[in-house]
Amino acid sequence: MTTTTRPNVLILGGGAGGTMTANMLRRRLDANITVVDRDATHRYQPSYYLIPFGYMDLADNKRAERSLLHDEVRFVEDTVEAIDPDDRTVTGEGGTYEYDYLVVSVGNSLRPDHVDGMVEGWERTDSVFPFYHAAAAEALGDAVDDFEGGTFLVTVPDTPIKCGGAPLKLAMLMEEYLRERGVREDAEVVMTKPGPHVFGTGPKAPYQERIEEIWAERDITFVPNFTVDSVDYEAGVVHSEEGDELEYDLYAPVPPQHGHEFLVERSPLTNGGEYVDVDDHTLQHRTFDDVFAVGDCADVPTSRTASAARKQTHVVADNIERSIAGRDLVADYDGYTACPILVEKGKAMIAEFDYESPISAPVVSRLNWILDINVIPSLYWNVWMRGYDPVP
Ligand SMILES: Cc1cc2nc3c(=O)[nH]c(=O)nc-3n(C[C@H](O)[C@H](O)[C@H](O)COP(=O)(O)OP(=O)(O)OC[C@H]3O[C@@H](n4cnc5c(N)ncnc54)[C@H](O)[C@@H]3O)c2cc1C
Repeated sequence: MTTTTRPNVLILGGGAGGTMTANMLRRRLDANITVVDRDATHRYQPSYYLIPFGYMDLADNKRAERSLLHDEVRFVEDTVEAIDPDDRTVTGEGGTYEYDYLVVSVGNSLRPDHVDGMVEGWERTDSVFPFYHAAAAEALGDAVDDFEGGTFLVTVPDTPIKCGGAPLKLAMLMEEYLRERGVREDAEVVMTKPGPHVFGTGPKAPYQERIEEIWAERDITFVPNFTVDSVDYEAGVVHSEEGDELEYDLYAPVPPQHGHEFLVERSPLTNGGEYVDVDDHTLQHRTFDDVFAVGDCADVPTSRTASAARKQTHVVADNIERSIAGRDLVADYDGYTACPILVEKGKAMIAEFDYESPISAPVVSRLNWILDINVIPSLYWNVWMRGYDPVP
């Protein structure tokens, strides 16, 4: 530890995980807490599949990061470029930062450029919208309104993605939107995945079964074993590695997602992988005891969601507090994650599970919709991001 009596806690990334961790630690520790983020704007990403249909407004779904952090938490706008855990320093474009404890919460990296033609299709046509980007989600709204028929295609890449439910929600909300607009009979709604299951097996199995029933009732097409290889944006065709092709009139791909290059290439924290190599339950780095990870950048075998980050925040805050006090760490993270599956306007199912088992029943209800659209965003901004969690 450095000579100061107040430990320096450095948090890389002020997204869902980093912001909640910073504000929670501020109340629990007598420490200097700094958040470094390359972006001064914090976005509520779960709105991206709602914005195209006008169920939420993008303008309401961002805040200045500074306004979310307690005044006693220092915020630095800088891009992190390298981490040296032996020296306990982080290098950014604008400076060098020392720490006693490091929380890495930089999320993951969207890479539409890893698919030939995806970025060109996005930039040069009005029919390709990688909706995990805020700008594409917003622009998709006009395209959805102008869509009079043909194929609406959603594809899922072969990399791990955040919120595995998001592409399904987009497909289902679009299907209903087309019915409302009276053009459903002239349209096909198609979603592909590289694997065989529309949602998943193991703890996801009950939700998978319910989704299969809904898709059969509503004639939404699932194409399994389709690994996106390239986009011929002039012809409006997506080619797969398996040698198949699908035509589209409107295309909303989930872009490939990876660990950040600086973590992989200019830090030893990924230990040869892409994400920060932490214990699945304590979230402490497997080699460097003073390093923890929260959220999408943590290499833990669960679905990457803000709900998972929220639960992880508690464990990391506990463990930093315990570590400072010289106590044993808790191994309390059980893989908890939750994904509200919006099946149509006014109806949703919450898929909630941990490493081992499903937690919630696969029930579609109006209450779940209200929870996701009206309650959770307000909890996110006013409670969780402030570092509180009355029902952890
Ligand atoms: C379309 C979509 C729908 C979703 N739906 C849901 C949902 O319904 N429910 C749910 O719980 N979750 C959902 N999620 C997932 C959720 O948004 C993420 O899991 C969550 O934001 C993860 O938090 P995080 O802190 O790990 O990463 P993020 O919130 O992404 O924050 C990472 C931060 O790190 C910063 N950063 C990155 N690199 C650097 C660098 N080099 N230097 C400095 N700063 C850097 C970024 O600017 C960012 O602020 C959805 C996501 C998307 C895209």
